[in-house]
Amino acid sequence: MAKPSDDLYRRYMKAFQDSTNHTNDCAACQAGQDCPEGAPIHQRFARLQDAYRARQSKQQRR
Ligand SMILES: [Zn+2]
Repeated sequence: MAKPSDDLYRRYMKAFQDSTNHTNDCAACQAGQDCPEGAPIHQRFARLQDAYRARQSKQQRR
């Protein structure tokens, strides 16, 4: 379970939700062609996903 202070995880989940919500309503993004509105949302999610996974793998190596 994520700690309440786990800001990265919360931002990651929020970005995932934003990205998913946008794609559900956007034919261009469903086809894999990021629209001008969706591109920053998906990029933000990708960045946070990278950061979160990098942190996870660091923790597992300990
Ligand atoms: Zn879109």
